[in-house]
Amino acid sequence: MAEREEMIRTQLERRGIQAPAVLDAMRAVPRELFVPEEISNKAYSDAALPIECEQTISQPYIVARMTELLELEPGQRVLEIGTGSGYQTAILASLAGWVYTIEWHLKLLNLAADRLERLEQTNVTFRCGDGSPGWPQQAPYDAIMVTAGAPTVPEPLQEQLAPGGRLVIPVGGMTNQTMVRVRRTESGFQREDHLSCRFVKLVGKEGWSD
Ligand code: SAH
Repeated sequence: MAEREEMIRTQLERRGIQAPAVLDAMRAVPRELFVPEEISNKAYSDAALPIECEQTISQPYIVARMTELLELEPGQRVLEIGTGSGYQTAILASLAGWVYTIEWHLKLLNLAADRLERLEQTNVTFRCGDGSPGWPQQAPYDAIMVTAGAPTVPEPLQEQLAPGGRLVIPVGGMTNQTMVRVRRTESGFQREDHLSCRFVKLVGKEGWSD
């Protein structure tokens, strides 16, 4: 697909995305399936796009960068919070062993589950509800990705990381955040700040109240 190849080259490689597995996953997943039909002609544009329930599908570069920060190895167990369109879910599922994904809006969750089924991606468990406190029953996870902006790093998410596990989460204000990676080490947790970004807000127990 020419548009997808162009996206890989100009939006990802040129901006420094290097991990071959991440580039291959982005090359394999048809992004046009994950945006509302009326804007499917914009699927490969260099931007976040509006989806149902007043949410957004993240910009391709942000999806690739967050995935790279997660440092997934084949067979690993991943928790994703904020399924949204399911695009990031599909990327994660193609790299990991199993993905547990939680979405607040049932409508979005159902749409995402249908899309992954169509792509025959069967290593995903979907759940509707508040993912901000994680999913302790399925823990520990090798990697946790949050794709909505949080006021602070939720303590329970750190606790659900396996030793060596990584948590990638946008943290900061309601409209602007910093992408944070927390790694669980033998002695505790190590935090690094990465790129600045803009995500819709994380709601629920560990998110923004309203
Ligand atoms: N990765 C998705 C991003 C969707 S936007 C994509 O690229 O399509 C973020 C999503 O997080 C929204 O769908 C929103 O409903 C969801 N969300 C926000 N707070 C949540 C919470 N506490 N639990 C689960 N999902 C949440």
